[in-house]
Amino acid sequence: MDFDALRNLKSGLGTAAVIVMDKSTDLVRAIARISYFYKHESCGQCTPCREGTGWMWRVMERMARGEADPKEIDTLLDVTTQVEGHTICALGDAAAWP
Ligand code: SF4
Repeated sequence: MDFDALRNLKSGLGTAAVIVMDKSTDLVRAIARISYFYKHESCGQCTPCREGTGWMWRVMERMARGEADPKEIDTLLDVTTQVEGHTICALGDAAAWP
């Protein structure tokens, strides 16, 4: 797996940063933590990123605690599509994808 091979498959390594998790990882909790990172790193210039990263983080935290309603899964997906592609830099996309 390298940049050229993935480019030929019309994919890519992105920043080439890789996080390895074993099967014991609580993925919902892990994504909640990743969401906190993006909320913290958002510079606040774009409304979708500024508001969306905090909103996604708060929902993920409630999901990780088992306090979210299953209907919020669809709402969360909808919010990610409102952030992705609607920001100045790639941080908004990166925040939405997990
Ligand atoms: S997408 Fe980039 S420029 Fe826009 S608020 Fe987020 S970090 Fe700032």
